Amino acid sequence: MTQHILPGGIIGILGGGQLGRMTALAASAMGYETHIYTDRAGSPAAQVSSHVTVAEYDDEAALTAFAKAVDVVSYEFENIPANPIKTIQQYVQVRPGHIPLHISQNRLREKAFYREHNVPTNQTMPVHNLKELQAAYQEMAAAMDGNDRAVLKTAEMGYDGKGQAIITPETDLQAAYDSIHRQPAILEAFVPFVKEISVIVARSTEGEMLAYPPAENIHEDGILRTSTVPANIRQDTAEAATAHAKTLAQSLHVVGLLAVEFFVLKDGSVMVNEMAPRPHNSGHWTMDGAQTSQFEQFVRAICGLPLGSPAMHTPVRMENLIGHDMEKLPDIAARPDAKLHLYGKKEVREGRKMAHINWLLKA
Ligand code: AMP
Repeated sequence: MTQHILPGGIIGILGGGQLGRMTALAASAMGYETHIYTDRAGSPAAQVSSHVTVAEYDDEAALTAFAKAVDVVSYEFENIPANPIKTIQQYVQVRPGHIPLHISQNRLREKAFYREHNVPTNQTMPVHNLKELQAAYQEMAAAMDGNDRAVLKTAEMGYDGKGQAIITPETDLQAAYDSIHRQPAILEAFVPFVKEISVIVARSTEGEMLAYPPAENIHEDGILRTSTVPANIRQDTAEAATAHAKTLAQSLHVVGLLAVEFFVLKDGSVMVNEMAPRPHNSGHWTMDGAQTSQFEQFVRAICGLPLGSPAMHTPVRMENLIGHDMEKLPDIAARPDAKLHLYGKKEVREGRKMAHINWLLKA
């Protein structure tokens, strides 16, 4: 199987969302074709790709035909079962690979991985039933010293704040556990962070690593609202986050991108919240603010090309347009400092990411 895929080659992507769409657009600008494998017709990525397979993720015949038709395979979301990856790997390389996917799709495995590699993270406890939840919360609240808030999160399939419940002493634990459908979960102490940041690292087939400058992120209701670069953080905070992100990318042997989200504490230290082995919403600023966008970098990395410079050339504040925010679009479009990126989603739904704006800030 080839290490290097030259322009003219076909990149297979599992998933048809906006991350796949923006990857396909970057790939096209570099002379590659893309083949999207998705379980939904009319997806944002399929609209801009020359090859599309619409099939279930457990359709062995469709997966095999897809794998045989492309030169490399990647994915744009983590919640892909392991079996399709195993089928595809018989025919073609999957980058970033099975291990980063396996670890990052389960919060319990993820937190254990951070601890194994001495990367600081927040206190968490596994929850497999109501009894464990009661015991875990009791133990956590006793140790929390005045802060008795915790967050219950499903171990798998959570994104954009879905599958989460806040726990306080007043919470009916039975109802909270029911609200996440009694799935295997993780209980986390609420972190009194002063800021949230993220670092995206690219790692090449040769093991070279380059990191983007950290983005400062604001979430509302668990969904990313804005990402601003440069982040208003201390130099040593930026350096620590970047070093941790590189440790994780190296330990996972990522070929592609790894996005790592951190909590920044009052003393300037950082704790990892979570990671994703793919382009990330907090990296969309790079499309208009960095020498190489995260999508171009992703294509370069998985195709075995040299990495591009991740340096910022223009400060940017990325703003997500979520659901009915789209009504603001005509006003936004009239602004000279707004760069528009729409995802081609026909139906506006509450909480659905429809587009983002990169606001060009004065240097
Ligand atoms: P997540 O999907 O786990 O990244 O959670 C989404 C957002 O919810 C985070 O970016 C934080 O703003 C908030 N959040 C999640 N977990 C915690 C926590 N343990 N303490 C404080 N805030 C949290």
